[in-house]
Amino acid sequence: MANQEDKFKKVISHAKEYGYIFQSSEIYDGLSAVYDYAQNGVELKNNIKQYWWKAMVQLHENIVGLDSAIFMHPTTWKASGHVDAFNDPLIDNKDSKKRYRADVLIEDYCTKIESKIEKEVNKAAKRFGDAFNKQEFISTNPRVLGYQEKINTILSRMGQSLEKEDLVDVKNLIEELDIVCPVSGTKNWTEVKQFNLMFGTKLGASADSAMDLYLRPETAQGIFVNFLNVQKTGRMKIPFGIAQIGKAFRNEIVARQFIFRQREFEQMEMQFFVRPGTQKEWYNSWKENRIKWHLSLGLGEENYRFHNHDKLAHYADAAADIEFKFPFGFKELEGIHSRTDFDLSSHEKHSGKKLQYFDHELNESYVPYVVETSIGLDRMFLAVFSNSLVEEELENGSTRTVLKIPAVLAPTKAAVLPLVKKDGLPDIAKEIINDLKWDHKITYDEKDAVGRRYRRQDANGTPFCITIDHQTIEDKTVTIRHRDTMEQKRVAISDLKSIIDAEVSMKTWLQKI
Ligand code: ATP
Repeated sequence: MANQEDKFKKVISHAKEYGYIFQSSEIYDGLSAVYDYAQNGVELKNNIKQYWWKAMVQLHENIVGLDSAIFMHPTTWKASGHVDAFNDPLIDNKDSKKRYRADVLIEDYCTKIESKIEKEVNKAAKRFGDAFNKQEFISTNPRVLGYQEKINTILSRMGQSLEKEDLVDVKNLIEELDIVCPVSGTKNWTEVKQFNLMFGTKLGASADSAMDLYLRPETAQGIFVNFLNVQKTGRMKIPFGIAQIGKAFRNEIVARQFIFRQREFEQMEMQFFVRPGTQKEWYNSWKENRIKWHLSLGLGEENYRFHNHDKLAHYADAAADIEFKFPFGFKELEGIHSRTDFDLSSHEKHSGKKLQYFDHELNESYVPYVVETSIGLDRMFLAVFSNSLVEEELENGSTRTVLKIPAVLAPTKAAVLPLVKKDGLPDIAKEIINDLKWDHKITYDEKDAVGRRYRRQDANGTPFCITIDHQTIEDKTVTIRHRDTMEQKRVAISDLKSIIDAEVSMKTWLQKI
């Protein structure tokens, strides 16, 4: 656990030191759980958005995009269920006066049991060496089975109590498990209460005519209310999808774990409209498609797992999360939900407008069913960033810090480095940049010895370094160095573009899906 915490601290400090993420309003001591994306962070974030948008919209003839407003008519949130049911159970510790999400306290307790399982697995792996079969060990070892059983019992009781709104039992569970406040160390808890997560604001200048609004807590509703507009003007035939990337706001009770849980964040959502009765098929097919998208980035198959929901939200007939192994354990990165016709039917009722589709093949009208894929952009950023940060031991005994961001997502694709600041080498470097900058983000660095510059670019996540030396003047060749292998090759300046293209082009990476 201590190791995981150290790793996470390193991730946070590296993100700041190398211009990826800053605390919002830092000069005023920051604003809790709000972050700004810095010069490198914004490039990585834009590249992730593009990677998602191309995979979802550009590569699917039957999916189109949308950019709907953050403000929506307040009835939207009545219809979606957010006014009545978008609550989290909160609990306070009377000694520390700290506030917690009751369900998260219980889940964290289960994560601790999970790490005990991991310890058993690691111990056994050491003991059995090559003969170790992890799957078999997990499904037969009595101690592991006991831990797993305990987790299942706790989570299923919590799920049932939350569903029944039995908040007294949620508190009982916390007490029975002897969960203490991480700050005060005591079990002096208040009752569990429900808390609505939407941020309210007002539209209009005068107090009596002002209208109460909410900042949207999800982007999906902008898609539902535009369903018919897009279907008609785009002449879309079912099945078809509408995709959107945009900000969402939730007044999270405890926002923590860096950019994992924020009060202002960004979602990449796609709502896929299907014929009633076919939703199960589409749900499975989108689960498969989305996990392939993740795996195409090469962050390691072992770092992903599906979590199928037993307890379903009021609108869903099937739901699963894609969980990722963050530095603090496996947590939700993306949700795939079969939302039935709940949203469109509810908007029909509240607006009095028909939101139906005439299916020419069946010769009938119906309210389509919806399968949704919803991923947090910031969580995807954290997945890529934390997974990429490694400390490597080198052959000569020294270590290097390297950010092995998949080349396709790296903020800067290459750094051009003149070996010395004279003899015309900087001019050649500038010429190379002027040639490459039309296709890629390139940077220039002439300060310090070249070895130190390499280290700096490694820590920045730049996949290529291009070094200009005196031989360049004679034969128009340069040294190109790969971030991950540290391999260096002499190549012609005229080949640089194609070498970089081959490793960073979205096409090459997306074809793996
Ligand atoms: P959680 O259980 O972690 O609160 P959720 O199930 O409420 O998440 P959804 O409503 O399904 O999340 O939202 C879809 C995606 O939006 C999530 O998978 C997650 O990646 C992202 N997301 C949700 N809340 C936040 C947040 N506060 N900060 C950053 N990303 C978030």
